[in-house]
Formats: sequence, structure tokens, C-alpha cells
Amino acid sequence: RDPNVKKPEWLRQRAPQGERFEEVKESLSRLNLNTVCQEAQCPNIGECWNGGGDGIATATIMVLGDTCTRGCRFCAVKTSRTPPPPDPMEPLNTALAIASWGVSQNTISFNIVDYIVITSVDRDDIPDGGSGHFAQTVRATKELKPEIMVECLTSDFRGDLKAVDTLVHSGLDVFAHNVETVKRLQRIVRDPRAGYEQSLSVLKHAKISAKGMIMKTSIMLGLGETDDEVKEAMADLRAIEVDILTLGQYLQPTPLHLTVKEYVTPEKFAYWKEYGESVGFRYVASGPLVRSSYRAGELFVKTMVK
Ligand code: SF4
Ligand code: SF4
Repeated sequence: RDPNVKKPEWLRQRAPQGERFEEVKESLSRLNLNTVCQEAQCPNIGECWNGGGDGIATATIMVLGDTCTRGCRFCAVKTSRTPPPPDPMEPLNTALAIASWGVSQNTISFNIVDYIVITSVDRDDIPDGGSGHFAQTVRATKELKPEIMVECLTSDFRGDLKAVDTLVHSGLDVFAHNVETVKRLQRIVRDPRAGYEQSLSVLKHAKISAKGMIMKTSIMLGLGETDDEVKEAMADLRAIEVDILTLGQYLQPTPLHLTVKEYVTPEKFAYWKEYGESVGFRYVASGPLVRSSYRAGELFVKTMVK
């Protein structure tokens, strides 16, 4: 972190608690399934797993392994040029684990998690970027538990629009791909194989191919972007009909990662929510601790009823 920029009070993390949080945690410990929520020690775990005010619980899981072929300068995920091949049993096992979330030990059935975000590392080493494997996971999940809502937070598949199609037609409810930052900062923040235009083309193609499915993206603030650049990004995203935008504070995961240039105030985040919705987003979640999958289930429902 830039030594001149002090971490403010509003980023203090709250200890997760709540009845449902305990249920999810307990059921996960019986299953061989790791959530991004736990692994990334996400500060929102209490809110997401408890389902916030609307009672829709959200959890995020990662497929295609834990090692990424890219190295973005904001991200703490392990990287390698040659990660181990994906486990062919992972789609089915993941779906089985998700499906069994709804059943308690004493066989009284209750819905623990209603909305699942499936995400992955980038797999530039696999010909289709892993989209077939990802799609199989979605299909198996929907077959075993049709009532669960599935959001996929995907890579850009190096701009391979066929790979995007494979995933978009797998039965998912929401397609998410993050542009991460404004146009000017792409090369500084993201791996050189990623890019603004490429990400926009993936979102644009997905929207058209999926005939109007809900599209979602996320931008981190505090990396040195100007207000005009944020507005430009919002205009570009609206031009391709992205529906939901999430905005959160960038936090430096380790001293080796990009420094924080600014801690954006909660008031400014509130301004961006209002501004974003005024330029046409169906929903904007904006706050210091907001992450791409933050209370995603609630956001989806709010977007649908709007
Ligand atoms: Fe992290 Fe995704 Fe970048 Fe890989 S592509 S380093 S998982 S942000
Ligand atoms: Fe999990 Fe995402 Fe919520 Fe964090 S924001 S707890 S990773 S669902």
C-alpha cells in the first residue's frame, strides 16, 4: 500500500455471524467443496451467506483448479504457465456438492444456498479456455438442482466467441465478466492478454447470443482512475447493454501487488450508484467492500423486479 494513503475506518472488516451463516459453514465442512468466500477471506461472507435483508443466500465457488495462467497485478491467485489439467470429475462433483447443500443431516430439507456464482481462473493453456468444462458444471448443477440460480463469472476466453457461446448456452441465469478497471489503466492493472476492447466484445457477444440474458460486470476503484474515465467506462458498458454494475474499493492483497492510490469514500460510492442508475444500469451495487459477487442473489432478484 502507498504509505501516504491510510486505510480508513469504513474498511474495517465485520466478523461474520448469523444463523444461516453457521448452517452454510457447517454443511460445507461436510462437503469437499471450497468456496472463494472462505479462501479469499471475503469480508462479505456474513452478508452473502445469510442472504442479507431479502433472504437470498449467495456463495461463490471456483472451478478449473486454483492456478491461473495469467498474472493480473491486483489478484492474489496462484499462477503458472502449466497448471495441472482440469479434473474431469469436477463438473459432476461440484454439482453434487451444490445439490446436497439443500439437505440437512437429519434429512429435513431446507434451502441453504439459493444462488451460486461459479467462477474460474483463466486457462489459456486449454484450447477452449475451459469453457466446455465450465459449461458441463453448470449443466450438471441445473440438472441436479433446477431451482438454484446460477451466475457464471467468466474469463474472456482470449476473445474466443465460440467459447463464450458454449458457456452462454449451458443453462446459466446470469453472465458476468469483469472489465476490472477503466480503459487507460488496463495495461497496468490486468495481464497483457486481457484488454478493455476484448472484454467489451465478450460481453456484447454474450448479450446478443443469449438473447437478452442479464449481463453483469465489475470495476475496482482506487487505482488512480479519474471521474471522467469512470463515466466513460459506464457509457461504454451501457452502449452494449450491460445490466448490472458493481463498484468496490481495490485493496492491495500483498506488498507485491499494485498499491492503492485512493480510498474512495462511502459518499462517493453512493454517488456512483446514483450516477450509474441514471445512465441506465438496471442495478448498481457500489460500496467500499462490494465485490463482483456481493449479495449477487439479491441483486439478481432486485434487477428482475425493477
Ligand atoms: Fe486473477 Fe483472473 Fe487475473 Fe487470473 S485472470 S490473475 S484469476 S484476475
Ligand atoms: Fe462470497 Fe462473493 Fe459474497 Fe465474497 S462477495 S462472500 S466471495 S459471494
